[in-house]
Amino acid sequence: MVRESTYFVGGKHVAGTSGQFGDVFDPSTGAVQARVPLATTEKVQVVIANAEEAQLAWGEWNPQRRARVLLKFLELVARDMDSLARTLASEHGKAIADAKGDIQRGVEVIGFAAGAPHLLKGECSSGAGTGIDVYSMRQPLGVVAGITPFNFPAMIPLWKMGPALAAGNSFILKPSERDPSVLLRIAELFLEAGLPAGVLNVVNGDKVAVDALLMDDRVKAIGLIGSTPIAQYICETATANGKHAQCFGGSKNHMVVMPDADLDQVAGVVGTGHGSAGERCMAISVSVPVGKDTGDALAAKFAERAKSLKIGHSHDETADYGPLITMDAVGRVSDAIQIGVDERAELLADGRGHVVDGYENGFYLGPTLFDHVAPEIHIYKEEVFGPVLIIVRADNYEDALRFSSEHMYGNGVSIFTRDGDTARDFCARVNTGMVGVNVPIPVPIAHHTFGGWKKSGFGDLNQLGPDSFRSYTKTKTVTSRWPSGIREGASFVTPAMH
Ligand code: NAD
Repeated sequence: MVRESTYFVGGKHVAGTSGQFGDVFDPSTGAVQARVPLATTEKVQVVIANAEEAQLAWGEWNPQRRARVLLKFLELVARDMDSLARTLASEHGKAIADAKGDIQRGVEVIGFAAGAPHLLKGECSSGAGTGIDVYSMRQPLGVVAGITPFNFPAMIPLWKMGPALAAGNSFILKPSERDPSVLLRIAELFLEAGLPAGVLNVVNGDKVAVDALLMDDRVKAIGLIGSTPIAQYICETATANGKHAQCFGGSKNHMVVMPDADLDQVAGVVGTGHGSAGERCMAISVSVPVGKDTGDALAAKFAERAKSLKIGHSHDETADYGPLITMDAVGRVSDAIQIGVDERAELLADGRGHVVDGYENGFYLGPTLFDHVAPEIHIYKEEVFGPVLIIVRADNYEDALRFSSEHMYGNGVSIFTRDGDTARDFCARVNTGMVGVNVPIPVPIAHHTFGGWKKSGFGDLNQLGPDSFRSYTKTKTVTSRWPSGIREGASFVTPAMH
């Protein structure tokens, strides 16, 4: 008998009633470890009603009181970090250390969101006219929802829910149906931290559940992270239905390596392409060495590093990375590798058919490396989302800048150089949302914002940082005058601002 997962609604675990289920695997062994109920439209509507009722009181709490719940939650996560990481790793397959990083990068945003009393402060123009003050205030939207991907099962939901809850909204999370358990546990911890029942709800499901959230007028904002076609669909549908939308999609992050870069340092970061089995939106998937000598030296170093990486069970602390999320993902990435071979890229390391002793049915792929990839071919143009690093050689700096800027994705990009002038020019001109200088994964810290450009991001505001509070609130502007009649005498004239 496999375990049956639940929803978390109104502060309680609730069993699914649709009779429809998705499989949750243990990717390290290949076994099905649970089945997750997929919600119907009617079920989602019940969850929305519950969240709407709970929000009325929560939205009235003052921001300091809401922040105290978030701060208590941070203590509880620290207390339970080991077990949360084990739960996450067992469904996702990432190494335990990586799972802790996933949770940690999420709680950093909860820490940021605990600054809500400051972040929700409005603006005031005292004396905008005679005896007139104009001030604005940020008010919660009501019920808001997050739809999140499988690859960061704790971090991304926490990125969405932290600012949304701190701003006084109730939140409905539709996590990935591949690895929902860590979020169900996080919802319990929020309750223990003092969050009123019904303010945070987790509903599992697929397109049916997502569409129910998108079509319901009571849901005022949608935050999504996922693949580009889904991000675009959700952003367009949500905005057409009058909702705030903040939707982020796929990526193809380039790393430009200039001839003056420290190549040993660059080779050391090859793990950012293969780590977490390449299932990171900020993974480096394209390396762009400038000049033949840089390309030859880098290809040799990458090939050597790829051979040394250890792939293993997510609980194997000596492994560099673990399995992919499903056997379908292994098949999809293997097909992309074959297309690369057919399109005449040079395969320097082939991870297909990788077997981990004792876990022969696990969803593993070894590190794969292609050199001399032409920018016209499939594995350059499309997101592969697996442990596949490709080298596209550039003749000069302008070509390297152009490759990064003209790619349809614009999530992250890095440059490795010792020359400040080149780095500065690159940062100013590259057409990408997040840029690293001698840093392989330029994920901004919580109080800056995170967001890709082009086909990596839809909607006008980023996530994290002050943008997240703008996204989950609406601004009300008050023009006020207090003509008491005691100081001025009563006036019946329409006031003019002078
Ligand atoms: P996905 O697009 O398959 O799923 C994302 C979410 O959308 C899930 O909750 C899923 O249930 C839901 N969904 C799937 N199909 C849907 C449909 N037809 N209609 C409505 N909802 C649907 O993505 P994934 O495989 O879970 O995650 C990997 C993708 O996410 C990659 O493309 C990766 O680059 C991207 N990602 C981007 C970022 C970023 O910040 N830009 C971060 C992490 C992951």
